[in-house]
Amino acid sequence: MKTLIQGGWVVGFAGKEHEVIKDGVVVYDGNRVEFVGKEYGQPVDKKIDAKGCLVSPGFIDTHFHSGINASDYILNDSTKTDFFASNYLAHGGPTREGAHSAHLKDVDIGQRFSLIHVLKSGVTTTFDIGGAGGEPERYVDMIDQVGIRCVAGPSYKNVAFFHDKEGRLEYDWNDERGSKGLQTAVEFAKKYNGACSGRMTAMLFPGHVDSCTPALMKETKIAAKDAGVGIQIHATINLFEFHTVMQRERCTPIELLKKIGFLAPDVSLSHCIFVSGHSWLAYPYGDDLKIIADSGSSVAYSPLKYLKLGILMESFDRYRLAGINMGIGTDTFPKDILSDMRYAAIASRVADKSFLAGHPRDVFNSITLGGAKMLGRDDLGRLQKGAKADITIVNLRDIAFGAVRDPVRSLMETAVSRDVRSVIVDGETLVDKGQYLRLNEEDLLEKVQAKGEEVWDSVSKWHWTGKAIDEVVPPSFQMR
Ligand SMILES: [Zn+2]
Repeated sequence: MKTLIQGGWVVGFAGKEHEVIKDGVVVYDGNRVEFVGKEYGQPVDKKIDAKGCLVSPGFIDTHFHSGINASDYILNDSTKTDFFASNYLAHGGPTREGAHSAHLKDVDIGQRFSLIHVLKSGVTTTFDIGGAGGEPERYVDMIDQVGIRCVAGPSYKNVAFFHDKEGRLEYDWNDERGSKGLQTAVEFAKKYNGACSGRMTAMLFPGHVDSCTPALMKETKIAAKDAGVGIQIHATINLFEFHTVMQRERCTPIELLKKIGFLAPDVSLSHCIFVSGHSWLAYPYGDDLKIIADSGSSVAYSPLKYLKLGILMESFDRYRLAGINMGIGTDTFPKDILSDMRYAAIASRVADKSFLAGHPRDVFNSITLGGAKMLGRDDLGRLQKGAKADITIVNLRDIAFGAVRDPVRSLMETAVSRDVRSVIVDGETLVDKGQYLRLNEEDLLEKVQAKGEEVWDSVSKWHWTGKAIDEVVPPSFQMR
């Protein structure tokens, strides 16, 4: 079936980079783009009017964790009191006794919710780091039902993190835990790569540079090559990790990855904030950015997560100009790729002390072409003949946008997920008029609220303080 989208600003692909076509036309036939341009003379089966809208290639979120926002709520404030800038570690490790009641993950409500949430911000492809762990079959079924394109796999590491009763973080090392985890991940990749009518791409997700042994990371490289899949690993994501690796290995986490032959074009590094020269490190030696750029590895940067913690990447532009392929991820909550694109741009201006940094073109490239390059795909992140029919339509005709001259700049400066009108993945319309079509959002939200309360109620059972959520993370005002 041929569908024609007309009347908006179309972001087409002009061979090497995007171009904007005013009053443009996009035609897709089944799950492939058939035509992008000014006029289409042949008959079509269906027409979509996109007057006043930006018609864009679907966005690619390169770092996302499915699950409800309950744990992000805990992340917000408590992290600064434990382990300088340790982010997830402050709540990532339960007490040994409470481990069974921590982080209640569930496929049907929490994971489904966050995938729909990110889809509604215009994301058509998301890297769901570790989301497939636990119940792979149910997970794959759920992805199939949601309709999004997903880069998936279970994550694994040698370490289990625990806190003792006085709040000391313990790295519980276990070689077998790592190799078994890798084995499970490889089995997932072999079974499910290409599942969901081709919408699922398997990837290996070893946990972090400080939670995996060099041996496990080397085994990961061999296994990825054998299975024909890519790798993403969390790297230099907090100060604690940087100093732990520095003490253990006598080099930066990035230098360690280079030393063991880990870095390559099929590898992406999550976050990658604390590289040599970062102002918080007091470590002016070496050139981590050059190491990454020379290797061809990409960086999956999640600006909001770090801004919440008062931390800047130094900087998006510096990485890009060093020659690193940059993707953007949502990671925390809210999962709104349009806001994250804006945060990436503005954080770069602050870090660089320059209003010239963080150009709309460059952050838009990151949520389209950058993510596609990370996956080695030339049929995603662009609208041209033969590309996948993954299309996001954003309404720019609204008081919030005012007069529009450069729609990509307007998108970067103003748009949020609630401006997304339609999301089409693989030729299927999943979101129309701002509503997700495959289930009742109200029903889902009721379940999500109940699930969140369940997670918050469990905090005293696993948190090392033994305190309730309101003491660990006090609410903004007294609640009654
Ligand atoms: Zn992550």
